[in-house]
This record gives sequence, structure tokens and C-alpha cells, in this order.
Amino acid sequence: MSTSKEQAAISQVMAFLREWDQGNKMVRSRMLQEFVKQHQGKTCPALELEFAQVASLFLARLTAWLRLTYMFGTCLGLQLKAVGVFLSASSNHRYLIEFLEVGGVLTLLEILGQNQTKEEDKAEALHLLQIVSNAGRKYKELVCESYGVRAIAECLATSQIESTQETAQLLLESLAHGNPKYQNQVYKGLIALLPCTSPKTQQLVLQTLRVVQDIVKVAYPSIVEPLLNSLKSLHLEVQHEALELITELRHYEVRPALLKGLVALLKPVKERVQKYKILEDSEMTKMTESLPLFVQQAAAAKAIRMLAQGSEELSTELLHLRVVHHLLYAMGNQSHADAQRQASLALEHFVQTYPLVEEHVRRAMGQTLFQLFMLNAEILYMKMDEIQADILHSNKVNIAEALENQKSDTAKVCEPSCFLRFYKMSKLRSAVQKGKKVSLENTGTVKRSKRQVSAVKEEPIEAESSSYHYFQNPEDIGSFRSNLLSWYDQTKRELPWRTVAMTEKDINVRTYAVWVSEIMLQQTQVATVIDYYNKWMKKWPTVEKLAEATLEEVNQMWAGLGYYSRGRRLHEGAQKVVSELGGEMPRTPEQLLKQLPGVGRYTAGAISSIALGQVAGAVDGNVIRVLCRARAIGADSTSPAVTEALWKIAETLVDPQRPGDFNQSMMELGARVCTPKNPLCNQCPVKTHCHAFKKVSVKQQKECKTLQSKLNPAVNGSTPDIESCVTTGPCQLCLSEPWDSQLGVQNYPRKPSKKAARVERTLVCVLEREKVGEEKEYLLSQRPSKGLLAGMWELPGVLEEEGSSEMKLKKSLCAEVGKLLGVLLDKEPLEFVGEVVHIFSHIHQTYVVYSMVCPDHKNREKSTVRWITTSALQEAAVSTGVKKIMKLYESKKNLKGDNTKDKKRKGSASKDEKKPKKVKESGGGKQLSLTKFFSPSKTNQ
Ligand code: SF4
Ligand code: ZN
Repeated sequence: MSTSKEQAAISQVMAFLREWDQGNKMVRSRMLQEFVKQHQGKTCPALELEFAQVASLFLARLTAWLRLTYMFGTCLGLQLKAVGVFLSASSNHRYLIEFLEVGGVLTLLEILGQNQTKEEDKAEALHLLQIVSNAGRKYKELVCESYGVRAIAECLATSQIESTQETAQLLLESLAHGNPKYQNQVYKGLIALLPCTSPKTQQLVLQTLRVVQDIVKVAYPSIVEPLLNSLKSLHLEVQHEALELITELRHYEVRPALLKGLVALLKPVKERVQKYKILEDSEMTKMTESLPLFVQQAAAAKAIRMLAQGSEELSTELLHLRVVHHLLYAMGNQSHADAQRQASLALEHFVQTYPLVEEHVRRAMGQTLFQLFMLNAEILYMKMDEIQADILHSNKVNIAEALENQKSDTAKVCEPSCFLRFYKMSKLRSAVQKGKKVSLENTGTVKRSKRQVSAVKEEPIEAESSSYHYFQNPEDIGSFRSNLLSWYDQTKRELPWRTVAMTEKDINVRTYAVWVSEIMLQQTQVATVIDYYNKWMKKWPTVEKLAEATLEEVNQMWAGLGYYSRGRRLHEGAQKVVSELGGEMPRTPEQLLKQLPGVGRYTAGAISSIALGQVAGAVDGNVIRVLCRARAIGADSTSPAVTEALWKIAETLVDPQRPGDFNQSMMELGARVCTPKNPLCNQCPVKTHCHAFKKVSVKQQKECKTLQSKLNPAVNGSTPDIESCVTTGPCQLCLSEPWDSQLGVQNYPRKPSKKAARVERTLVCVLEREKVGEEKEYLLSQRPSKGLLAGMWELPGVLEEEGSSEMKLKKSLCAEVGKLLGVLLDKEPLEFVGEVVHIFSHIHQTYVVYSMVCPDHKNREKSTVRWITTSALQEAAVSTGVKKIMKLYESKKNLKGDNTKDKKRKGSASKDEKKPKKVKESGGGKQLSLTKFFSPSKTNQ
């Protein structure tokens, strides 16, 4: 029996429900507001007490009205809040079950999927779904089975409100903790969201993927492309999350694809970058359009550094993907400083870890750039000029090939100790740079192989060059200076920047004016620069004025002068001087070098001597030519030894009283007298100090005397000896190639010799034998332990000599095969297979491939000759060339198929039919197991 109190409560509820049933939209809205206000946060028993144990009756009405009206948005927010009161109060999931039984989840998901649903209502629906999901695994399954993942993911992608996006993200994360069957659904849904355009969504998706990745334990290949694309984002948070996820994925099977993709991004697809350039006119637009690709390039370099620094194995994999070549390329991207910076930092890791990489990078960069790189990879890009950038862009570094070639040399390059060597090597390197004598033992460095130690010793060592190449006598130096400066005073050209340097009192204006002239004169003729210089200085007479200009104005002014980054860097430098240096131009060569972008060692020397009167040398192309001739320096003028020697000479010669004039006179001499071709030696003010001139003169005198004595034997006389270089060992500065009398003084300087690839053709023989019931085998011989592909296994072959007939060459090939087998072979049938081209670093090799079936001979077994099956060959210590040849051979064999066999049978049936039996009888070398096969080369390693 109910008490009167209970009956009163029931009457109240019945009245409430009646009002609801009969009420219109307005009434219901008011009732909902009151309900939410009064009951929010109440527990299930409290609600039941209020509703006389029949609260469910109201929930059922509420849910029904929601299902009928959600499409029109009628009081949607209030309705959801009211449902929320029930679901939150639910103990033992009572209200939750009642809500779900009438299709509550589907209604909520449909609300999410509606375009017209307000953002705050979506947030409310997500909140309710979160309550459902938190109720347990089977509730999560219910959401997933109702295509909840997709609806929630779409909501995450399209929502404009961060709190809604965050709720959607948490919900997806919570669903991923449910049934494994649906974990993958969440994972795939997240991958599908990666290409969305909202940075916040991308950030949340990447974050969630990291969590879900850990749950699903398998990485889908489809994640790679969108993940790498997200590196294009200009939002740091997205980049950060993408990099974190990439780092995470290194443990999964998508790793090779990821590494390959990252390396490829270092060279943005040309067509795309160029397309923007064709479509757009403005320089700025070009930058904006290609910016995402460059941002992606920088991020890829950063990811590569993170991955490589954390794992030796990954570093090695990256080296095989030619990461060094790609990083050098990215370093040359003068349109994006961060790409240059990140690539430099990544490359620094490889250079400091692998001596082989260091060797190749040094060669590819050239000494000046390499030194900058070693000093500070982080700001290298600030000092790089156009030419250096071009060199980096066109580099051909192929560490993968070098690694392959080196495999058979001293053991693996990537021995585990490499990583231990990291910091020790950087110490060693910096000591070497500073010219300190370094003992490997003292630094505690893990000992390098002999070859690696000698690489350290290859640094320029002054003692190995004789005094012949330097100026040492003070009288000579004094005379050189005064002769040159008098000539300069008489003949110098009046140039606007020279006038400013002489007349301008303000040190800042003077330094700025000379800086502008020196940058404009890089790669550009004086005559072209004059006009531009005058206009520039008129428009921006001070560094402050230039700093106020826009980049567009600077580019406009620079138009037609070429190498546009020079203008950009001047502008960038001016802004730096104003904002960071208080408008004061740097005062010393070191400061100029360090603080101004685009200023290298030469420019720093030139500005500081001309504008600031600093006693600093300046070595540009003209000065290189003059000094190489004056001091008979004939080694590669770009080699470290020559570069250091030239700077040393320039610094010795520079006149301390008039350093600026002296440096300009040297450049003027190179431009007008000591020209690359047909130098005017007779008018040269320093010819008495010029070794090249003396050498040519003495040679001419000798020839003259010889001729005279032939004509008139009575005439006799002596000629002076040619002064020459004296060293105890080989000189690093003397001519590396013989003197060419046709060239005269133009024997100096010598450019680096461009070694053209040697073109070779080699006849090789695929010698096959088959034992009954066994795989076919092929004959390989081992290369000598030194030289190209040392110790590796190859097919028998002979180098084609020029002029040899085909017949003769085939005979030689037969003889070579016979020699390997220890039998006489000169008339065996060689069948032409085809040609294979393989490029080594210095050799363009064409293999002319023949095949032969093993003849019936008892061959002697040798340690340098082996028979091996095709499958074992794939794993063997053979070069790619051999693999290519075998591929060609196999494909030809497959192509011919039975026809060929038939023809063979018809052509030489009796002979061929006998062969298998004879081979079986032969006592030749037997096939070794793989382990045994490799044992000789392993001991070599
Ligand atoms: Fe050049 Fe001839 Fe003068 Fe020597 S003498 S510095 S080669 S111009
Ligand atoms: Zn010498």
C-alpha cells in the first residue's frame, strides 16, 4: 500500500507527464530548462525519489521527442542536456540501457552527422557518446557497430570549435581501447583524417594515432603518404606531432617506406616547384606557393636527423638510400633557410659518424664550404654563395655505391664503434682545423684503419711545401708592395665605391657602401655593377634606409643583376644590423664573417681592409691567378693545401699602411694585366717577383742560346738556372701535371682535373654446369685483394683491347675460362647473350656477355675459383654488375624457352646431349655451402 506522501508524489509526476504530453514546444522547453536546472548532477536514487520511482517514464518521452525532432533542431541542446542528466545519473546502467534500447546511439550519431546541427549541440551529443563509451567494452562495440567511428571522425575533421574537436579525439581514443575488431576501424579512420585541412584536427589526429598505434601493434602502409604530407604543415604543433609519430613508426614494418619517403622529400619534385614559377610572376608568390614543399623538405631533414641519431641501424639504412646526396641537395636550397639548416645538421651527424661520408662530403663541398660546415653547420646557410649552392644542388655523392665498393676492403664502414667515436671525432676534427698536431691515441679516439688515419694527415701541412712558394724576404715583400701600389696609383679606375671608401667620413656608411659593392661584384662584371650600385646607393644611402625597404623593392632594384639571393641577403643583413647590432656595422673580418649573411672569407677581408683599414688579406679568383703565377703554385687551386697557402701569402703580402688599396691593386692586376688568357707580363709591375714569368724567360733564353750555338758554334754563353722548389718529400703546391711549354705562364693556376670516366668494354662468360637432380651452377673467380672491387667474386672475363677482332677476343675469353678451370680451351662454343652497362665511379663499363655450357674437362680446384647456384649468387660477395649480367642471362634464357633448347638440340645435338653426363663425371670443384663459400672473403674483412 502506498502512503499518502507517495500518492501525492505520483500525482505530481502524473501531472508533470500530462503537462509534457499536452504541452507545445514552448511548454516543453520551459519544462526541460527547469528539469536540467533542478536535477543536474543527481544520482539515480535521488531522481527516482523525485519521480516516484517512474523517472523512466519521462526518459522514454524525452527520447521519443528527441528522435522525432532532432532534424529540426527543436530545443535540441536542452533535450540532450536532459538526457545527459539521466545518463550521468545512471547506476547499473539502468537509464543508459533504456536510452540505448530505443536507438539512442543512432540518434546521437545522426545528430553528429547533420550539417545543420549547431556546434554546441554536436559537443553535447559527443559528451553523451562519451558516457556511453565509458560504460564498458560492449557499449564501445555498440558505438562502433553503428558506424560511430566514421561519424565521430568526421565531426573531428569538420568542427570549428577546439573543445568539440578535443572531445571527439578523446572519444576515438576511448573507442580504440575496446574490442580489437574495432581498434583497426579507429586506426583507419584516423589515417583517413590525416589529409584534412584543419591544423587543430591534424594535430589531434596525429596525437591519437600515436596512442592507437601502440594499441593496434601493426602499422598500415597507407599511413606513410598522408603522414609525410602532414610535414608540409606550416603549424609547428602539427610538425611536432608528425615527427613524433614518425619516430614511433621506426619500430614498425612501414619503416623502409617511411625512410625512402623521407629521403625523397629532400628533393622536392621539380615540376611542382617549377609549375608555380611559370604560373606566377611575383617573386613573393613563388615563395609562398613552393613554401609547403620547402617546409616539408626541412621537416624531412629534421626527421632524418632524429632517426639517424637514435640508431646506428637506421643510419646505415639511410646511407643506402643515398641520404647524403639528398641532404647536400637540400643544403643548396637558398630559397628556404630552414631546409638548408636542417639538412646541414642532419648531414653533420653522418659526417661525424662515418669517415667515409666525411671524405665524400669534403670532396663534394670544396674546402671553403666544408670548413664553414665543420665550424658551424647550423649557420652555414648564412655564408653560402650562389655558386656553392649550385655545387651542392648538382652533387653526385653516392655513398651507397662507395659502401658496396668498400665492403670487401677493410670490414664494414659502419662498425659499431662508429657511434662511440662520435664526440671524440668532433674533438679531433676541431683540433685538426685549428692546425694543432693531433695524436689519435692522446684523444682516446678509437683507432682508425690505416687509410682513415692517413685521411687525417692529408690536412694541409705547411712543412711539406718549400719556401719557394712563399714570400719570406722582407725586401722582396716591400718591393712587391711598392711596385704594385705605384702601378695602382697611376692606373686605377675611378669606381663609385672606391670614391665612397676614400671620401666618406662616417664609418658605418663607408662599411655599408663597400659591403654593397662587394656583394654586387660577386659573379658580376664591374661595368655592369656601376649603374646598379649608383641607383642603389641613391635609394638606400645607409644601412637603416635599406633595412626599412621591403624585399619586393630590393628584388625590383636587383632585377637583371642575377643571383637574386645576394640582394635578399643584403636586405636581411641590413635588418640584422639595425635590429640586433644597434645600427653599427661589424668592425672586424671575424665579425663581418659571423654577423652578415652572404659574407664569406674573401668578402670579409675585402670590406674590412677597404672600408675599415684592417690588415686583412683577400683572395678572390683574380688574386688566386696572380699568386699562383707569382709563386709557381700549380697544384689544384681548389685543394685545401693550395687554398691555405694562398691565404697565407695574401696575408703576408698585404701592405699594413694601405691594406685596402693593396687588396684592390691585386684584384685590379688580375683583372687587367695578369688575365686568364694572354697576360701582359711585360707590363706587369711585379714581374721581377714572378716565378712563372722567370721560368718562361729562362726557358726562352736557353732555347735562344741553343739556336744561336747551332747557327754559330763560336758563340758561347751561360743562362741562369731556373729556380725551383726543393722539398724532402712530394710538394703539395707544385705542378701536378707536366709543364706545357705552349701555355707559358698560363700553366698556372691549375683547375681540379676533371676525371672523365674511363670507358671500358669487358667480355664476360657465364659458364654454366648442371648436375643431375641439382640446381645449375655458375663459375666465379675471385678478384685480387687490392684495387677495384677487391676480393669480390666475378664472372670470368677479359678486357677488350682497342683494335682486337671479335674472334681474337672470344679466343682470349675461352683461354681465360680454360685457365680458371686448369684446362686448355680454345674452340668451345660461346653464345652471345647481350650487353650490360654498369657505371663505377671512374669507369663506364660495358659487359659483353657470352655464355657457355661447362665443357667436359676435369678441372682443378682452386681457392680463387668457385661454382655457385643462382640463389646463392644473390647473397654472395658479387658486384651489382655481376647481378645485372646474371639477370640478363636468366631473362634471355627464359625468353628463348623451349625453342632455344630445341634449336640447340638440333644444332649440336650429340655434343650437348653428352654434356650433363660428362659434367657429372668431372672431378671439378664442387658447390660449397653458403657459409663455406663466404669464409675466404670473411677472413679478408
Ligand atoms: Fe702575371 Fe705575368 Fe705579372 Fe707574373 S708577370 S704576375 S704571370 S702578369
Ligand atoms: Zn713546390
